[in-house]
Amino acid sequence: MPELNLILLGPPGAGKGTQAERLQADFSLAHISTGDMLRSQVAADTELGRKAKLYMDEGELVPDDVIIEMITQRIDEPDAREGFLLDGFPRNESQADALDSALRAHDRRLTAVLQIEVPDDEVVRRLTGRRVCVKNPSHIYHVELDPPKHERICDQDGARLIQREDDSEQTIRRRLEVYHSQTTPLIDYYERAGLLRRFDGTRAPEEVHTHLRATLATLRLEEQI
Ligand code: AMP
Repeated sequence: MPELNLILLGPPGAGKGTQAERLQADFSLAHISTGDMLRSQVAADTELGRKAKLYMDEGELVPDDVIIEMITQRIDEPDAREGFLLDGFPRNESQADALDSALRAHDRRLTAVLQIEVPDDEVVRRLTGRRVCVKNPSHIYHVELDPPKHERICDQDGARLIQREDDSEQTIRRRLEVYHSQTTPLIDYYERAGLLRRFDGTRAPEEVHTHLRATLATLRLEEQI
């Protein structure tokens, strides 16, 4: 099977985590979320976690050196050598360049960049109502749009649901500013590289998934030829 090395690009709350969880199962890709990796460092109270938390709580980006080191090691692990789905990385041009060099050094390359588009107002609506499972942060709900069967309990594993600390309206606004100033230039960057595919993230999650899955199936076929 050819490798599918993919990036999910989009604002916070675009549904990247939800879609990554589904695509991981469909295509046996390693789902690599820098946000989840950082949050588990915070939960374990490591030195890296303590440092990262200062930035995360403000909605700012964690310094590049920390993130780049974390990702270059992760994409080299056995499960990711068959293909990966990056969620939340890269977030600026220097991270994108670092990824490029790390892949090139191992004779690998990106297959595609999947951009999920959602307007700011919708992001705010989604994130203020978002609840995540304490045990598995890929289990994601929304108090109105996708509530769990029992209030504050994860349908999948019965664990408690919590609101992320950075899902307050003020921090969401800052995260959006950071996204527009630092991450959106990557849209052009990958467009120029001929890697960009766009998806309408305002559609129902199931529809977005169907669309993404069809695209990835085609990409995999093209890679085989
Ligand atoms: P996310 O779960 O992707 O929304 O990430 C939550 C927070 O983690 C962000 O607001 C940043 O503070 C930090 N973070 C995640 N990924 C990155 C990255 N690639 N570069 C810098 N900071 C990041």
